[in-house]
Amino acid sequence: MEKDTYIYGAGHYGVLTALDLEQKGIQIKGFIDKNAGKIKTRLGLPVFELNEVISDNNNLNIIIAVQNRNAIRDVVENLQLAGLKSGSDFNFSSIMPIKPKRNMLRFEVHLCDHCNLNCKSCGHFSPIAEKKFVDLDILERDFKRISELSGKKCENIKLMGGEPLLHPNVIEIFNITRKYFDTTIQLATNGILLANQPNEFWESCRINNINIFVSAYPIKINAMKIKAQASKFGVTVELMDIEPEKKKWFKTSPDFTGCSNIEVAYSNCAYGGSCMFLEDGKLAQCGLPFLTKHFNKYFNDSKYKYEEPTEDDFVDIFKINSLDEILEKFTRAIPYCRYCTDIKEVQWGNSKREIKEWT
Ligand code: SF4
Ligand code: SF4
Repeated sequence: MEKDTYIYGAGHYGVLTALDLEQKGIQIKGFIDKNAGKIKTRLGLPVFELNEVISDNNNLNIIIAVQNRNAIRDVVENLQLAGLKSGSDFNFSSIMPIKPKRNMLRFEVHLCDHCNLNCKSCGHFSPIAEKKFVDLDILERDFKRISELSGKKCENIKLMGGEPLLHPNVIEIFNITRKYFDTTIQLATNGILLANQPNEFWESCRINNINIFVSAYPIKINAMKIKAQASKFGVTVELMDIEPEKKKWFKTSPDFTGCSNIEVAYSNCAYGGSCMFLEDGKLAQCGLPFLTKHFNKYFNDSKYKYEEPTEDDFVDIFKINSLDEILEKFTRAIPYCRYCTDIKEVQWGNSKREIKEWT
């Protein structure tokens, strides 16, 4: 039996969704909106309160076309409370961007997967990652392609890790990055190796206009020497101050059943849509689809496992024809968001490489 289709949200995206469904030949019974009392009709169709629709109907196809992230969460909660199931009784509008479309690309890339600091629950799995340096030929190939697609213009490129200063060819990487982009280039480091970098490093940062961002960890680094070197060579360094006793830290607790609602997860996610992650010719919403291989390999015998990312989880930069295709993709969730739940605040500490740090 054909389901009764309603659009949840009688605003801008509700209307666009209705027009899209109409073009596809899908009959719409009406809209659902919390302001139904005021709106009454849209596109000549009635606007209902949720209760009016669900009270005597168990054959529903509700398409959510609401953009505000808090509103999405409330809508999903209400539908679930009414006993409706995501994927069968309700879905999200395929034309509705969950995140605003960016004008420019902004991405980060690992120079190393491993790290010289060993943070508990590291979101990039560095304490359990095997030693791996980015291949310079692959990096240059990818930068060249992104540069062609973007006309050398990106909003920001972050060279990071793991700890990027472990890479033996970091100066060459600066030269390659600057060759392809007229853009802000940032080196994000934990700062441990920064004070003792040779003059050539600082000179290259100046020539290539590399900004250095030292992340906040409750460890001691030689901030005075770093500032002195930065000032001597005219390099911008941003040092995040943290008092050693303040060990506030974060951990994610993935849903290994993969049942998180991807739109809700993406809507609440601080990473997705704001900064993409580049690895070996592919850009994803975040590093997760590429970095979970470290978890799977290290905890090989565990019952917890991430599935391999699929082609829907990233953009192959050699298979698309325009920058717009990338920017459009990043307005929407990826299947991998099914693992994501809320981030919890924990105490920072050294990793013991125990699975509970990442589960
Ligand atoms: S400094 Fe800590 S959080 Fe950052 S990559 Fe290294 S281990 Fe992970
Ligand atoms: S998988 Fe999706 S929800 Fe999870 S961190 Fe990445 S973009 Fe965010």
